[in-house]
Amino acid sequence: MDSPSVVDAETARKLSLFRPLGYQRNSCGYCKSDNGSASYYASSVAVLPEHYELLVNGGWRRSGTLYYKQNLQRSCCPHYTLRLEASAFKPRKDQRKAINRWNKFVLGPEYIRKAARLCPKTREEKKHRKCHFDLLTAVHEAEYANVKRPIDPETKRPLEPAHRFEVVIEGDSVSQAKFDLFRKYQATIHREDLSRWKTKDFTRFLCSGLKRSTVKNGPKERKLGSWHQCYRLDGKLIAVGVLDLMPNGVSSVYLFYDPGYEKWEFGKLSALREVALALEDSYHYYYMGYYIHSCQKMRYKAAYRPQFILDPESGTWDPLDGELTRKLDVRPYVSLSRDRRLAAQTVSESAPEKESTAQPDPDENDEDLSIFDLHMPGVMTLEEVEALDLDHWLLLVHGTLVHMIDLVGWERMPIQNPQSVKGIVAELAAVLGPSVVKESAVVLFD
Ligand SMILES: [Zn+2]
Repeated sequence: MDSPSVVDAETARKLSLFRPLGYQRNSCGYCKSDNGSASYYASSVAVLPEHYELLVNGGWRRSGTLYYKQNLQRSCCPHYTLRLEASAFKPRKDQRKAINRWNKFVLGPEYIRKAARLCPKTREEKKHRKCHFDLLTAVHEAEYANVKRPIDPETKRPLEPAHRFEVVIEGDSVSQAKFDLFRKYQATIHREDLSRWKTKDFTRFLCSGLKRSTVKNGPKERKLGSWHQCYRLDGKLIAVGVLDLMPNGVSSVYLFYDPGYEKWEFGKLSALREVALALEDSYHYYYMGYYIHSCQKMRYKAAYRPQFILDPESGTWDPLDGELTRKLDVRPYVSLSRDRRLAAQTVSESAPEKESTAQPDPDENDEDLSIFDLHMPGVMTLEEVEALDLDHWLLLVHGTLVHMIDLVGWERMPIQNPQSVKGIVAELAAVLGPSVVKESAVVLFD
């Protein structure tokens, strides 16, 4: 195709690209069933943070360059999207304790004793500290740049803490130190066979994220895209928090740390620091990944409060406690908006048609069906997709952007057939949603 690109270079830079991979059943890592988990998949090496935010708020998540949205209604262990409102966060006692313990270790008993004498706190300061835990102060207290170093009269030199602790947010590039630390972590904490982790696998998993940028936010700079929060102690890399920074949210992707520091509870330390980041740089929300109610190992996420769960059907958020928790205790798939709709239908006798409450047939092979026939929750219907202008959705062909309608035979392709090009494109549009469709292009043949 020699036709010139239908959009200018500036518009092209603001597009996210998606290659549709389709709906698939896979084994479940939580209950170990062979094909219990069903998701729609797409891949991309070019997603903008603002588009990823729209996807996350629609139930998507990424693992490296693989993007997926689970069909919660047809999966053994439904993955609910979880988010914390950073400004309302109240740390629990064990969380406050973890950070205080770490700060004490970094500063060391000698430093703490001498500093108390050389730069004493006022009585008010002491009293305030005793009754108030300030998250931002606690998170940054032991960072070397914030540690007061008065001259020690004994040595005539600045008073030094026991350890030099530094935390820096860097690009998500791969390095030997990160890879070595990652392997050590996987082998010790997850007891994994290291032969499965070559540099390229690590790079694909944790160093190929969203497009990165730094934008002005008043006097400060604000980061967007995929970054690594690197923790160093005495110059040595000891932990890395992999983060996706979106316009209105900090999303935690992964954390790996030196197993030698396991007793310091880096899971808690990093989560608190990431909530602090959401507060300081006004990202507002903190996303800890999916929440799987049946998985005991995930319950720790509920200890960061207040948490909200994305309703798989309405796209609204419900508190993760009370009604929602009680319902999740008895059935795996819960949509409070659906429950309310059904309850309203039951009381209203004039309801013309009663919505089916039946659960999907587990023996039905859903991989053969179109996602429109599956009625996957949180996905556009065929009618809604037909109302979009798919003819003018962008398609990347040999590095050039064209419109779908430029494809030979496009107009005659059957949209209902999930194997036809138009069917594949329509399914991708349905799962991405209308806002992302407007600002994206499809990769099919390249
Ligand atoms: Zn499962």
